[in-house]
Order: sequence, then structure tokens, then C-alpha cells
Amino acid sequence: TAPVVRTRTLHVVPEAHSLPAVVGSDLRVPTLHGEVAYANLDHAASTPALETVREAVDRALRTYSSVHRGAGFASRVTSAWFEQARAEVAAFVGARADDTVIFTRSTTDSWALLSKALPSRTTVFVFGTEHHSTLLPWGRFRTVRLPVPQTVEDARQLLEEALVDHPSRHRLVVLTAASNVTGEVWPIERFSALAHEHGARVAVDAAQLSAHRTIDLDAWDADYVAFSGHKTYAPYGAGVLAGRSDWLDAGNPYLLGGGATRSVTEDGTTWATGPARHEGGSPNVIGAVALAAACATITRHREAIEAHEEQLLGSLRAGLEEVPGVELLSIFGDEHDRVGVVAFTVDGWDSSLVSQVLSVEHGIGVRDGKFCAHLLVDELLDDPWGERSTTAVRASIGLGSTLEGVERLVAAVSRLVEEGT
Ligand code: PLP
Repeated sequence: TAPVVRTRTLHVVPEAHSLPAVVGSDLRVPTLHGEVAYANLDHAASTPALETVREAVDRALRTYSSVHRGAGFASRVTSAWFEQARAEVAAFVGARADDTVIFTRSTTDSWALLSKALPSRTTVFVFGTEHHSTLLPWGRFRTVRLPVPQTVEDARQLLEEALVDHPSRHRLVVLTAASNVTGEVWPIERFSALAHEHGARVAVDAAQLSAHRTIDLDAWDADYVAFSGHKTYAPYGAGVLAGRSDWLDAGNPYLLGGGATRSVTEDGTTWATGPARHEGGSPNVIGAVALAAACATITRHREAIEAHEEQLLGSLRAGLEEVPGVELLSIFGDEHDRVGVVAFTVDGWDSSLVSQVLSVEHGIGVRDGKFCAHLLVDELLDDPWGERSTTAVRASIGLGSTLEGVERLVAAVSRLVEEGT
């Protein structure tokens, strides 16, 4: 007789195929019709924290002490965490060995830092598609404002012409990796190649990319990147600027104070190089540890995150496209690659009323307005007859979103339209 072979099936699910948990995913909110599960479709504003982030913060709070200052055990452990967090963030953004990785408060703060450190008489090139945080901080430089393009090719041509027309020793092209209005992803490597051909550098706003797609300074051959913790499943108050060291080491220090100096004498101050030059004062260690934990978790679950968001984005767009009178905003067209951000208008409805109805009647969190990208939204909603809404509703997907939430939104907008006609 054949031997009996006992078998046992092990259901090992690789992490890459499972979604990481977020804090507060069981949140219930009041509506006019009673309490319902919160449908979080507002990830482009801020993301909920990951469970791994909550655990990392909890662990860090139990031991933490001064950074780079004390000789005690807790102080040495805390300093090591801070530098370990920097290394993890460097890996997350695909930093090259000689790039500098600086902890900031946010993307806005990162650009404020870079604008202070740029060589004087840099010329900055920026498209009208940018978020105000990325559009505005270059005021002390000659700035070439490029219009909102209609296609990627159009954008390349506009940039090339501008680079040819505005020669200068130091030039910086500022680009968004993913639009906070339409979610459209810009092919950064193509723009980097173009800028470098003309001797310019490229700074990438990855605030809307960091939670959804890979940031890769090295593969993009880009020079700087910035992103925010609160849009990357970590708390507020931690952000990053990473990139080429030479301008950062030679430029004006950002926060003048303890830790940013090499020596201070009656004759003057010698400033440090590296991240310390710009990180004066006591740093946000807990924020850095939290952000690094988020980066590590996102990287481990990359495949599952992208698959989840693709499914939800597909349903959201397909559902809204079927509702009569709903128009989705787009820079490069409906077929363009995008992350899960969808801005739309509802014919005959004020956008702020739509978002209030979604919240108060259906427990759905979205945002309305011009999303700190006035130039872009004005251009996309331009209507010579003045009949179209001047603002839009934005639904944005992330780990706190569910298919049920997306379907609830589509059903609620359909109902609005039916009732309004
Ligand atoms: N850039 C983009 C594309 C954004 O969406 C945002 C925030 O909405 C920012 C920059 C600014 O980010 P923060 O408010 O974290 O500084």
C-alpha cells in the first residue's frame, strides 16, 4: 500500500500582497440619517496614520531623549534612531550616495529651505499647474512662469523654448510629480533629461506621489525632491528635502542656531555642511521616526497598495463618468496615467454644496474649492459663458478608502443630480 503522506497547506500571504492597516479605519460619523462608517475620500489633503507608524511612535516615546547632544544611553539611542530614519528616507526617495537628506516640516517648508539655499541669481522655471507651495516660494529669483500645458509634448516644448530664451548660469525647473487636482503623473525622467540637456536642474514636488508610487531621484535623474509626512501616512510636522549637496552645502543655512554651526567665535560663525547646516535647533525626532516607519511600510506593501488604488480609482472614475452632468477635470486627457485624485464638477450644483451634502447626508469626506492651485483650476474650469462652477469637488483615494465608500459617493452624486433635475 502507498504510504500515507500528511500534508498541510500553509496560507502564507507575502506582505507585498496585503494592505497595511491604518489607524481609525473603524471611524463612524454622524449624518442626518444616523451614524455611518466614515468614507475617507480625502487622502490628497492628509492621510491617516499607519498602524506601524503608531507603534514606532509609541516605541520611540518610551526611550527618547536629546539628539546629538547627550552622552547618556537614551540620548545615544535617540540620535541613532534619527540617523537611521534619515537612511530609511534616503532609500525611500532613491537618493544617490552623495545626496543630502534634510528633515523639514513639510513640502512647503522644504521649498522655503531650498529657495533660501539656491545660488543668488538662479532663474526658476515653473508651470501654472503647481500647488501654491511649489509655485510661490521663488519670489526672490527671476521666475519664468509657464502656462498650463495641454499635452506632455506641449509641456516639453514650452519648457524647452523657455530654457533657450532664458540663459543663466544657475537654473532650476520645478515640477510636480502628481497633480493635487487631477492626480495626473508627470513623466519626470523626460523633463529631467530635457532640463539637463540645457544645463538646468530639476526639483520635484512629490507631495501627491509619496503615498502612491515610487519616488526615485536616481532613476529620474532629478536633482531635488520634497514630500510631506502627513500625506504619507505619518503625522503632521515632518517632511523631507533631498538632493544634490553642493548648493545645499554652500547656500544660506535655513534655521540658524544650535547644531547648525561648526564653530562660533567673536570673529564669526562657520556653518556646518550636510543636513545639520539646515536643521538648526532641536529636531523633530518623533516625526522623523514616524515618517521612516511609514516609508518602510509603504515600500514593503507597494504592490498591494498600487493594486488597491487602481481598483478604487477605476470604479470612482467609471462611476462618476456615467452620471449625467458630472465632468472630471484633466490636464493631459482622460487616458493619462494618474494616482487616485479625481476633481469634478456637477452641472448646476455649487461644489461646496455638493461636498456638504456628501458629508452631512452620507458621511463621505471630500474637499471642494481650488485646492491651492488657483491657476490650474481657473484654467481647467475656464468657461466663456460663465455658467460653469468656478470650483470643483475633489475625491482622493488611499489606504483609508474602501470600494463601499467609492460606491457610496457615486450613488450620492447620482441622487443629487436626479433630485436637481
Ligand atoms: N504640493 C502639492 C502637490 C500638494 O498637494 C501640497 C499639499 O496639498 C503641497 C505641495 C504642500 O504640502 P504641505 O501642506 O504638506 O506643505
